[in-house]
Amino acid sequence: ASKAQGCNTCHFFTKEMNMGVTRRLALEEQLHGALGNSELEVLYQPLVDIHSRSIIGAEALLRWHNPTLGEISPDEFIPVAEQTGLIIPIGEYVLAQALEKTAQWVHQRQWPFKIAVNLSPRQFRDERLVTFIEQQLQANSVPGSHLELEITEGVLMGDHGYINSALETLCRMDIGIAMDDFGTGYSSLSYLRSYPFDTLKIDRSFINDINVDPADRELVNAAIAMAHGLGLKVVAEGVETEEQLESLATQYCDVAQGYLFSKPVPPEEISRMLIKGRFTRS
Ligand code: C2E
Ligand code: MG
Ligand code: MG
Ligand code: MG
Repeated sequence: ASKAQGCNTCHFFTKEMNMGVTRRLALEEQLHGALGNSELEVLYQPLVDIHSRSIIGAEALLRWHNPTLGEISPDEFIPVAEQTGLIIPIGEYVLAQALEKTAQWVHQRQWPFKIAVNLSPRQFRDERLVTFIEQQLQANSVPGSHLELEITEGVLMGDHGYINSALETLCRMDIGIAMDDFGTGYSSLSYLRSYPFDTLKIDRSFINDINVDPADRELVNAAIAMAHGLGLKVVAEGVETEEQLESLATQYCDVAQGYLFSKPVPPEEISRMLIKGRFTRS
């Protein structure tokens, strides 16, 4: 019986693996045409000042609608884009779109507005990145101070010299650097010590249970205090309830992003939100 079972397990496992490979190939094949076929869309999720509830910026988040595969989550297709190198043209598209919209929003808004754009490791290693950003900022007449690049630990692994000089160049352009998904990696603390971050984004998985799990609450409180001690601004990701917001407010967390205020939305929606300027308590 055990032999038969072992065989079944083996067969099942292989089938699962094949499905993974098939899916992966389909994604790769479709992703090649995604830009040209206008299947990619950039949505924006508001960044909200916790104390005033006013919108101080937005994060650009990519969406892929494919006629054969349907909606594909960025958690699934960004790694494929990264591995194939397609992330370079795709990432340039996101930056160009986001800065074009930001030009309107900065003009519309009478006070600071920041656009946050995610960068993957391969984008960061591309030596044309800085030039591309410089061109886009200039083309849209947006000062670098309105842009913040979000990076995760993966971006910082590797050549310390190159990373340092790239970060320094961006810093001289007044572009902000945020550490994304803080708390999920292995070496976030040592990276915080080594590089000039402006913002710390606490991962959604810690915010989720902030009012349920005392350990999560303590970790979030400590992260906020530490970031402030280092002179960084703190953004809490994935804020979904007033209770979570309240807990973060008592710790002087600066900015909230999450479904409590808004899901990622098309740019026209952000323009409408900016006219109102702030979110009122529901
Ligand atoms: P991220 O940069 O950490 O973005 C935050 C994610 O949390 C987004 O998922 C957002 O929709 C989601 N989120 C925000 N608030 C809430 C909430 O209250 N509840 C819940 N359940 N989720 C919330 P999304 O849009 O699926 O993106 C996933 C990841 O894909 C991003 O994580 C980022 O790492 C990557 N990504 C998205 N767009 C881009 C892009 O243009 N370039 C690169 N390189 N990566 C991107
Ligand atoms: Mg992000
Ligand atoms: Mg994140
Ligand atoms: Mg994430």
